[in-house]
Parts: sequence; structure tokens; C-alpha cells
Amino acid sequence: MAIDNIPTRRAFLGDVFRVLGAGGMCCAGLWLTLRAGSGPQGQSPQTSAGGKSPAAEPLQPLPRRPGSYVWQIDPDRCVACDGCQKYCVLDVSAVKAVQCFALCGYCDVCTGYFPTQGYVLETGAENHLCPTGAINRRFVERHGDERFFEYTIDEQKCIGCGKCVAGCRLMNGSLYLQVRHDRCVNCNECAIAVACPAQAFRRVPATEPYLLGKNMKTAIAALERRRQAAGGAST
Ligand code: SF4
Ligand code: SF4
Ligand code: SF4
Repeated sequence: MAIDNIPTRRAFLGDVFRVLGAGGMCCAGLWLTLRAGSGPQGQSPQTSAGGKSPAAEPLQPLPRRPGSYVWQIDPDRCVACDGCQKYCVLDVSAVKAVQCFALCGYCDVCTGYFPTQGYVLETGAENHLCPTGAINRRFVERHGDERFFEYTIDEQKCIGCGKCVAGCRLMNGSLYLQVRHDRCVNCNECAIAVACPAQAFRRVPATEPYLLGKNMKTAIAALERRRQAAGGAST
């Protein structure tokens, strides 16, 4: 899916503003913030999954001292293994899948949502790649024979296993993993960072605690140019 094709669909969705102006925080983080009840501030309990017990984890951002640093994942380094699910000291990992809507192809056969082999194009739980059913699929539009769907992450269910991220890389690579700071307790020595086979973890300023990959920045910049061009044409 070419990046230049994406803004047309985004205009249809009317959601350009949710992927722009997000600053250091990912476009999807902003989207989730705007979606009352579906983001990290949602009040539903954690889902027990992956052999781990439900966790009474904080759902509000932890206070950070001025000038402090937090752990974050560089999406360009992460190889989407299962380390983030396995090694976090919390019962349910503080790492969650995140959607970069500016980069997503809105695929019908999403390789982050359906298994790549023997998939069935039905949304029953038995057909999901995600082991916890944390990805929501919503029809947005049809062009001729092509159908397009939006995929969002229910962070209350996500266990950070990375399966969807690895699957999405077969297409646009819009799904990625991030440490969510409403859950992470900011260990001095992050157990995932120690185990990470790709050295993808690093300390970042708490004032800019989220990271984007290069292709995500490119897609967001392209979207911004299209928005500015459209704004100029209408004035
Ligand atoms: S352990 Fe490292 S490489 Fe594996 S999913 Fe986590 S950040 Fe990515
Ligand atoms: S497949 Fe993706 S959304 Fe589902 S639990 Fe794993 S990381 Fe989270
Ligand atoms: S710093 Fe601690 S709580 Fe945060 S992701 Fe790493 S291991 Fe998990």
C-alpha cells in the first residue's frame, strides 16, 4: 500500500487530526485518548492471559520528577519477539501494541489480525491471530471490490506478545510495541531491556516518552503535507 494512497482514505474517515499534532506521543496514543473508555485510562479490569493472573495495575500516569527518564522501545530496532510479554516484572506486561493510523493500509486481510496461514475471513475469536482478542476490526468503506477496515487495540486485553506486530510487518508495519507509562513502574533496570535480543529498549525523557519508527514519521509527514495542501486549496 503506497503511503500516498492513505490520506484519501483518511479524509473519508475524517480523522486527520487524530494523527497530527501528536508530538512525541504516537498517533494511535492520541486516538486512544480521544476514544473515551477504550484507551489506557479505561476502567475495565485486566484480562488474565498467557498464564498470568489479572493484575491490579495503576491506570493513571505515574508522577515523574522533572528531568527524569523512562524506558521506551525503538520501533526500528524491535524484532517483535515474545520477550516483552515474558520478561516484564508486572503480571501483565506494561508493553502494548499500538496502531499508527497514518501508516495503516486498512487491509481487509490484515496480517496482524488474521493468521497468515489457513486464515478464515471471519471475525470469530477462533480466527484471530491475537491470543487475547485485543484487536478490534471495524468496516470503514468499500471501493469496488475492495473493502477497508480499521484496526484498534484494546489495551486492557493486550499482553504485549508482539504477534500482531510481526504479522503487520508483512504488510505496512503500522502496528508496533510501546511501553505504556500508565502501567510501567519504571524499574531502574528494566527486565525486558536486559533480555531484549535487539537492544531495542532505551531511556527517553519522561516529557517525550513515546517513539515512532522512521516509516511512521514519513507517513505522518506525508499526511501533514496533504492536509496543508488541501487547506491551501480551499482558501
Ligand atoms: S524484547 Fe525487544 S525485540 Fe522482543 S518484542 Fe520486546 S522490544 Fe521487541
Ligand atoms: S497479538 Fe498484538 S494486540 Fe494481541 S496481545 Fe499480542 S501484542 Fe497485544
Ligand atoms: S521498566 Fe519494569 S515495569 Fe516497565 S516495562 Fe520494564 S520490566 Fe516492565
